[in-house]
Amino acid sequence: MDTERHGGELYLCATPIGNLGDITDRVKQVLKDADLIAAEDTRHSMQLLNHFQIKTPLTSYHEHNKYDKARELVQKLQEGKKIALISDAGTPILSDPGEVLVSMCIDAGIRVTSLPGPSAAVTALTLSGLPARRFAFEGFLPADKKERNEVLSSLQAEERTVILYEAPHRLKETLKRLSETMGCRRTAICRELTKIHEEVLRMTLAEAAEYYTSHEPRGEYVLVIEGRPKEELAREKAEEYADMSIAEHVALYEGLGSSRKEAMKKAAFDRGISRRDVYQALLKETDGGMEK
Ligand code: SAM
Repeated sequence: MDTERHGGELYLCATPIGNLGDITDRVKQVLKDADLIAAEDTRHSMQLLNHFQIKTPLTSYHEHNKYDKARELVQKLQEGKKIALISDAGTPILSDPGEVLVSMCIDAGIRVTSLPGPSAAVTALTLSGLPARRFAFEGFLPADKKERNEVLSSLQAEERTVILYEAPHRLKETLKRLSETMGCRRTAICRELTKIHEEVLRMTLAEAAEYYTSHEPRGEYVLVIEGRPKEELAREKAEEYADMSIAEHVALYEGLGSSRKEAMKKAAFDRGISRRDVYQALLKETDGGMEK
């Protein structure tokens, strides 16, 4: 903690997701020096603090007091207190409380510092072997069935690698639904990361759904799922327009008011082909051929 700084400050502290060796020196120091630690579950966090002999007072900050308690904490910060925020495990805010507090601090002009460290999402992504250049973190799927289905259907079209958290008692059902919507995608099922029983299963979603019909899920899980492959999109588009020639496709848009150039552009986009391909097909048609 920077002791030269005056005024209150909020410190977002990432804590281990299993292996206590993963806590950073900086997080330990900030937790020791803070005036107060706001924790999701004080009893749970007490074990971590006892392990590192940290005696800083704890207060609870969780989903059900996130507004009232945030106001209280902001007041303490305005009085000059240094407060550290931790969750049960990993990085606060990520599928954990803290967002409201951070936003109130920003509005109140209070300095916020984030101390990076473990997160199950990033740990799973790096282990998955799936493309990590672009990814979508979904957290937990909504508990409400309708919302869940909406998210699942939006994931079907997601081209980036998807990261999901899931509770063991819902894993089977989730894998079944994921397999129904995007069965042949590759997945990495990351269990008990950084712990003794750490395990990563790499298979397709359909295979994973099948696997868990005869294996009981135990522990904590992150699912990393391959994004929609470009070829799948191209194949679907090709199937969708298979009954229509390229010339008919362009004529369809012209009939709807597009200029020829615009219609060619739209048809190329729909079919996942280049404008040059559309142009060539139209030329062939003028030469007497019909291009499908
Ligand atoms: N904020 C945390 C983070 O940064 O990872 C995540 C909190 S969220 C409430 C808890 C979920 O994270 C678990 O249900 C599980 O899906 C995932 N998770 C946490 N620790 C894990 C671990 N060691 N192995 C696998 N998944 C884990």
